[in-house]
Amino acid sequence: MHSKILVLRFPKSEVEKPIVCYLAKDYDLTFNILNATILPRKEGVMVLELAGTRKNFKEGVKYLRSQGVQVRNASQEVKRITKKCTHCGACTAVCPTGALAVIRPEMSVDFDQKKCSICELCVPTCPTRAMEVRSTNKAFF
Ligand code: SF4
Ligand code: SF4
Repeated sequence: MHSKILVLRFPKSEVEKPIVCYLAKDYDLTFNILNATILPRKEGVMVLELAGTRKNFKEGVKYLRSQGVQVRNASQEVKRITKKCTHCGACTAVCPTGALAVIRPEMSVDFDQKKCSICELCVPTCPTRAMEVRSTNKAFF
């Protein structure tokens, strides 16, 4: 059994379609949705654990990509470089999961990585480039 945690990014046109259900029906894969978010421009981001035979896994990922879904290994993660953060709060306005949030009354910005869906919206928003996408060095397949 082959199992990986993947980050899927759905274009706006595909968000409403039950694409993930076909992974079970047509590719005999099992999935467990860990996080699903609709972004401000109506694209969707889903983090899911996908499992099945290696062959079916590859075919399933190929199918997702043929539907315009971006598929990424969840071994990437978003990190905050603490010393670069000025707690300006700009990232909290775009973070769809609440992973970045203003703590009151201190008015400091907290980053809870467990809530992060790796949507990357905060990366270009941060004026000091404190938010970074990093690889965690795990192979895709
Ligand atoms: S936008 Fe950047 S500098 Fe501002 S609070 Fe967020 S991480 Fe810190
Ligand atoms: S990548 Fe940034 S904006 Fe997206 S969920 Fe994680 S912390 Fe929030």
